[in-house]
Amino acid sequence: MDPAKKVRRLLTLLRKQCPTVFPVRVIWTNKIRGAWGRCDLIRGPRPFFKIKLLPDVLEMWEWDHIWDLVVHEYAHALGWTKTCKKLKDHGPVWGGAHSLCYEAALRMI
Ligand SMILES: [Zn+2]
Repeated sequence: MDPAKKVRRLLTLLRKQCPTVFPVRVIWTNKIRGAWGRCDLIRGPRPFFKIKLLPDVLEMWEWDHIWDLVVHEYAHALGWTKTCKKLKDHGPVWGGAHSLCYEAALRMI
């Protein structure tokens, strides 16, 4: 299966197993500085979590590495869901959220 399709399936699984307070949208873009991916909470009348991923990873990385990136970024959205405030990027709340996402996503690795 092509990796972009696998990413979509993985996200479907995560949205179902680890629901977030706002929708999670994913965009593939080269406009990320110094990282392969990032997650932001976009505020406004209809807030959402925006996960940006660098398209290069689809060409350059093995699936388990891509999987890891998606789980990592999704965990930021879930971490924010648990506290409803901006967190330290990779603090204990993110760690707990990451653990839940990791476990939920294992069947896709
Ligand atoms: Zn991170």
